[in-house]
Amino acid sequence: MTRSARDTALHERFLALGRDGLFQALSDTSSIEDGCRRLARLAHASEDLGVFLSIIAAAGLAVPILRRGASAHAEQLLEDALAGRAVLAVAITERGAGSDVAAIRTTLTRAADGSLRLDGSKWHITNAPACDAMIVFAVDATTDDRWLTAVVVYADDPGVRVGPELSLIGCKGSPTGEIWFDDVRVPEGRVLGRAREGRALLDLAFVRERILAPWPLIGKMERVIEDCLDHVEEREQFGRPIHEFQYVQDKIVSSFEELVYARHLAERALGAVARGAPQAGLASLAKAAAADAAVVTFRFAIEVFGAHGVQAERRYGDYLQDALCAQIAGGTRETHKKVVFGELRLERARARHRIAPRRAGSTLLRGEGAPARTEDAPARTEDTIHG
Ligand SMILES: Cc1cc2nc3c(=O)[nH]c(=O)nc-3n(C[C@H](O)[C@H](O)[C@H](O)COP(=O)(O)OP(=O)(O)OC[C@H]3O[C@@H](n4cnc5c(N)ncnc54)[C@H](O)[C@@H]3O)c2cc1C
Repeated sequence: MTRSARDTALHERFLALGRDGLFQALSDTSSIEDGCRRLARLAHASEDLGVFLSIIAAAGLAVPILRRGASAHAEQLLEDALAGRAVLAVAITERGAGSDVAAIRTTLTRAADGSLRLDGSKWHITNAPACDAMIVFAVDATTDDRWLTAVVVYADDPGVRVGPELSLIGCKGSPTGEIWFDDVRVPEGRVLGRAREGRALLDLAFVRERILAPWPLIGKMERVIEDCLDHVEEREQFGRPIHEFQYVQDKIVSSFEELVYARHLAERALGAVARGAPQAGLASLAKAAAADAAVVTFRFAIEVFGAHGVQAERRYGDYLQDALCAQIAGGTRETHKKVVFGELRLERARARHRIAPRRAGSTLLRGEGAPARTEDAPARTEDTIHG
């Protein structure tokens, strides 16, 4: 397959990040905190915020799925992904199925010759136009309950067609596209995870993606607030530096407040994963808060800089559009609120039935200090609550 100059640039960037050990750092629980801080520093220094969605799709979604997928095929692909040799996409969304994952129509069936076949299409998939391989989530019609199953598909597999890059308002550094599957033969070794494990793989990857997603935004927010603080010292209007005007101060302080809130949640969500006690609710809050904070910060920065803020070379307009895309990519705010509310209800139900939290220190409502198990609340399995 011949690659465009932009695709080649993305592959070279992935190789460089692989050589620097970023993908490896982000994939290991012991180094994930360091990896996320590196993501923030990279974004702080980079002109291109939009490319980070590509990195997060690979490191946050694809790598955790391959790690858990446990097959010889997954192991080889994982090795290539960690080294940055392979650019990967994860395809869940379809034109008719976005927030509602249960509406997925792409289907895995068993043909008369016994082979697995994939049919359907995926839409709005990061890295699709440039990827070497993709992890596709499909309804598994080979099981009675039509569970979700994840399979590895290569961009040059017969029957796979990848459309041209979609034209988005932001995240232009992360090529996004559509893919069609027409009777694609899927060797058994490319099925990831155990039977009926697709949804669990997805949930695992969602948490990883959501704890990584805030960090590039945080790094860029820090940089933009620093720029604003420098600008208001130098820029004079009405014979005075504009830092003296309280309306201007308010924009910077409000941006800082958003940043502190976003960083606090991102740290807590990341800390939970690093301790081996991931919390989906915290990860959702962190992702949604960082994207919202970035929209506020980049918009205020444009205002603080006035006409200088809307100059294309300053890139603040691009960052704002990147942040608007980040609000939707990886699930909208409403989806994240649903996750948080679901987790709070479950936690309360456990407390009512005196069932210990799933993991030590994993209480969302009362924070990390909550006891893992009380004397009068003996541990029972998660299934107990559902009878
Ligand atoms: C830049 C970008 C990159 C992406 N990359 C990928 C990728 O790599 N892989 C992939 O699989 N997908 C990807 N997506 C798709 C993304 O996951 C979906 O866009 C997202 O889940 C929302 O789905 P939707 O766009 O179909 O919106 P819809 O689901 O149609 O939602 C439309 C509106 O309705 C609201 N809504 C929907 N349901 C409810 C509800 N029950 N309660 C309240 N409000 C609701 C939503 O919050 C939203 O405001 C990407 C999206 C973007 C923008």
